[in-house]
Amino acid sequence: MGTYDTMWEGLGLDLRRHESLMGILGEFYPMLYLSQKDRPKGMEYFDFVVSEIHGLRVKELLEHKKKGGKVVGTFCVYVPDEILMAAGAIGVGLCGGAEFSIPDAEKTLPRDLCPLIKSVYGFKDAKICPYLQACDMLVGETTCDGKKKVWELLKQELDVHVMEVPQKKVEPEARALWRAEVRKLLKRMEELSGRRITNEKLAEALSLTNGKRKALDRLYMARRADPAPISGKDALLVSQIAFYDDVRRFTEKTNALAAEAEERGEKGKGVLAGSKRVLVTGTPMAIPNWKLHHVIETSGAVVAAEETCTGARYFHNPEVKPGRTLGETLDRIADRYLETPCACFTPNDRRIENVVSMAREWNAAGVVQYVLKFCQIYSIEGILVEKALKKAGIPVITVETDYGMGDMEQLSTRMAAFVEMI
Ligand code: SF4
Ligand code: SF4
Repeated sequence: MGTYDTMWEGLGLDLRRHESLMGILGEFYPMLYLSQKDRPKGMEYFDFVVSEIHGLRVKELLEHKKKGGKVVGTFCVYVPDEILMAAGAIGVGLCGGAEFSIPDAEKTLPRDLCPLIKSVYGFKDAKICPYLQACDMLVGETTCDGKKKVWELLKQELDVHVMEVPQKKVEPEARALWRAEVRKLLKRMEELSGRRITNEKLAEALSLTNGKRKALDRLYMARRADPAPISGKDALLVSQIAFYDDVRRFTEKTNALAAEAEERGEKGKGVLAGSKRVLVTGTPMAIPNWKLHHVIETSGAVVAAEETCTGARYFHNPEVKPGRTLGETLDRIADRYLETPCACFTPNDRRIENVVSMAREWNAAGVVQYVLKFCQIYSIEGILVEKALKKAGIPVITVETDYGMGDMEQLSTRMAAFVEMI
């Protein structure tokens, strides 16, 4: 028996399938990550986290549960982590980024559904994700039709709380609806944990989430240096780990990495020197989805920044100051999250303006727009994103793909041609 086999067995994992999954990751990671040259030393911690991806962190979650704490799974950056934390719970991001579990999902779900949803559903069905198995409750949201309907399926077996995300932002009714949803989540978390959430508890949680968001923001600011002080692939990994690592440890390690990146920037030291800088925008990339970044960074370009939910959308408006009362703090939290520019909103001009301004601020020679197959909202909004970029004179390429490796060669050819052109 391996070190964690008893723990995984206790969580009800299918050990044989789980071992195959870990085997694939163990093969891919060194090839994609450890082979990179001139990586910052600060990445060693994040390599360690990946080497323990289903081990140490899961052990920590189970220890937390033993002490009476709860573990809550989330799937979207709209779910306010502060509220989970104020109830003594640990939130873990559960979006699926692996091809491995998709055939399991397709036994139940339609094939023409986005891979992010299928991946996580397959993890649940095949019992190969210890994070999902460790959760006491899941918090879903109504951001897209696929997710909305999948919550109903998951509800048949698991405790799922669904937050209604409005479709418009500027109307006062939309803000009122969202503020009410945030309060409902607070109530639900109080019921689950048996703990009352006070303004003080929420302020404490805010200081942790503010710190995490500011550390990520600092790393992104350091990435404005040319040559890039860190590869896009490494920066993406840091953002992906932000969704499930211990918040204090993650903040400390990300600040250390950002300091190293700043120093590299000052000294003109970087990675992939001479590569063209690109901005990536579009659908989120859940761990271990590193496909597009790998294609870009092996085609003569470097990813300077990401306008995605596994990128800048996660830590926009990083600081929320607590209010004098619980109600005031809750409203400030709700308002911050409502500002997240997801394609589920109509209209969503702020995101489109953001893409153009980020491309300029990170000095990108072009933009790579990433659309996960069957994600209608990002695919259709992509038409407006392309128009705005063309109007601003910024070259853009739209890549629609899934988690399969079958189109890697074709993607690399397209990317190399784009990089040549910009
Ligand atoms: S893209 Fe939209 S639905 Fe997906 S995580 Fe981001 S905010 Fe949530
Ligand atoms: S990528 Fe698109 S379709 Fe998939 S879960 Fe996110 S918003 Fe929904």
